[in-house]
This record gives sequence, structure tokens and C-alpha cells, in this order.
Amino acid sequence: MSSTTEATSEKWQAKSVMKLFRNNYHFFLELIFPKKCIGCGKFGQILCPDCQNQIKMIKTFNCPHCGRITRSGQVCRSCKGKNRLTGLLVAADYRSGPTKELIHNLKYNGLIEIAPILGGMLISRMQKSKLRGQLVLLPVPLHWFRRRSRGFNQAEVLARIVGKKLSIPVETVLKRKKNTKPQVELSGQKRRKNLFSTFICSDKKAVAGKTVILIDDVSTTGATLEECAKVLRTAGARQVWGLVVARG
Ligand SMILES: [Zn+2]
Ligand SMILES: [Zn+2]
Repeated sequence: MSSTTEATSEKWQAKSVMKLFRNNYHFFLELIFPKKCIGCGKFGQILCPDCQNQIKMIKTFNCPHCGRITRSGQVCRSCKGKNRLTGLLVAADYRSGPTKELIHNLKYNGLIEIAPILGGMLISRMQKSKLRGQLVLLPVPLHWFRRRSRGFNQAEVLARIVGKKLSIPVETVLKRKKNTKPQVELSGQKRRKNLFSTFICSDKKAVAGKTVILIDDVSTTGATLEECAKVLRTAGARQVWGLVVARG
């Protein structure tokens, strides 16, 4: 064999190995990093059926301020004026089953394959809600700096999944003005201060006269949703709802 044919043959082999790898990328990836269940650590799936069954979905609709049961999760009569949100829809209990771990692994470990599971929980909550009319989904924004270091905004990923399934438009008109310290490092009052005037609505037309649904993975004190709601009300939104996987 001449050296040129040898080189061509080697090149061809390398090419076919690359092709094999590319076509079976997920297979190889799983061989190197086998999937482990977030809930119990068993190998095979990101969430095994047993752990999936442990997710505790919330069946009641409650006032986000006092917890009293309301017709569709809206702020109750005695709490009116204490909250800028029209209401809040919470899909699951944070502390039961694998919910907390799922949220944490999507957010901090970047396990994007968790998004469809959490998205499915939001979809199921939306379908049981009584929200109708001109709806628009708005993901709670991350600051660009944190978005860059994480690679994605988990709230936006979830909003896209919900929007696609339920045919509701997703708008990313809510922006953050300045970077705020991570909320977890601050106490309740400081959280509110930290958030003060950090959100802006970049296109009022996208929300004016509409029922806006703010999407986030988790709401802890509700301060973030409150601040967003304030901005959106000023921009002319008819109603502002929150839709979250869980309340931390
Ligand atoms: Zn499991
Ligand atoms: Zn209430």
C-alpha cells in the first residue's frame, strides 16, 4: 500500500469513528455518565417511576398571602391590597418527595433533562386552573451575568415548555436592571430591599390589557413575584398571576 492510500484509509477510519460517535452521542454519553435517579440514586433514569410517584401535587387553590382556600388561587378578600399579585398557582409541595432535589439539580447542576418533568407539573397545574382569556407567559428573568454563568434561565426553559404545550405565547419583556445578591443569602426584609426597582418591562404592548402569568421554578418569600407584579401592573397588565413549581 502506498503511503497516500494508507493516509487516506486512516483518515477514512477516523472519519467513520467520528461518525459512529456523533450518531450515537447519547449512547456514549450514557455509557460514560450513566443516568442516576435524582430521588433515590438508582441507575437508569433521571427520575424513576417510584420517585415520580412521590411527587406531591397540590390539589387546593390558596390565597398566596394567608393560605386560605380560594376559588382559583387568587388573593382572598381580606388580603386584597397586601399583595400585588392577582393570585398564585403552586404545582407541588417543596418538601415532599423529590421536588426540592429536582429544582436544585436543574438550577445549580444544569441538568436540563429535568426541565420537562417540572414543566409537566406546571402544565398540569395550569390545566386545572380557571385562567382563560388573553394569556401571556413571562419567565422571571435572571441577571445576564448569572444567565451566562449558568448557560440558561431555568424559568425561561420552563415557560417555553408550558407555552408550547398549551399554545400560550411566551414573552421575555421582563428584564433585570442590576445584579442583585443571591436571595438565599439575605433575610426577608433585606430581600425586599435587594429587589427594589430591579425589574423593568421593556415592551408595554406585550402585556397591556392581558392576563400575565409569571413563571419561576420556586418562590420563597414571594418578594420577587411581588416586584415583578408591581412593574407589570404599571405597564398595564390586566391581571398578574404567578405559576411556580413549588414554594420554598
Ligand atoms: Zn428513584
Ligand atoms: Zn388571604
